Amino acid sequence: MSSQPQVRISYELPPMFEEINAKFKINKREILFAWNDPIHGPTIYNPARIYPIPQPLIVHELLHISRQGSTVEQWWQKYIADPQFRLMEEIPAHVVEYGAWISTPGVARSQRRFILNQVAGRLSSDLYGGLITFAEAKRMIKNMEKESRGPDSRDIGF
Ligand SMILES: [Zn+2]
Repeated sequence: MSSQPQVRISYELPPMFEEINAKFKINKREILFAWNDPIHGPTIYNPARIYPIPQPLIVHELLHISRQGSTVEQWWQKYIADPQFRLMEEIPAHVVEYGAWISTPGVARSQRRFILNQVAGRLSSDLYGGLITFAEAKRMIKNMEKESRGPDSRDIGF
């Protein structure tokens, strides 16, 4: 069984949705929102009702939740207002997401380039405000994911 921490899934709009939508023009895009709720606990808002939510996307949101700590509203305010902060939060989230995709059972090594292109394509997209080029996103995600597996990762061969 999974060792994921408990996370609540809500189909409602997240708190601060008007501010978030004013910045990112969410409209009807399929987007998840991480919210480390001090009362209800870690929550992923899923107003587009994505089902099932792929595990790598849950891992991505949990990374945000872990960094929101006890100041979730301040985290979101900074995320909306500060592109550099947003980039620094999204890079590790995309790295863990990529790592989860490529270690999913049944995903072949030959599919990694396709997955990397997808994940880097999103990180460099206008969804996040064009924070980084596609080439930079690819390089960072690939290298940081490799580093996260430690110095012996090249010998594992999976
Ligand atoms: Zn994210």
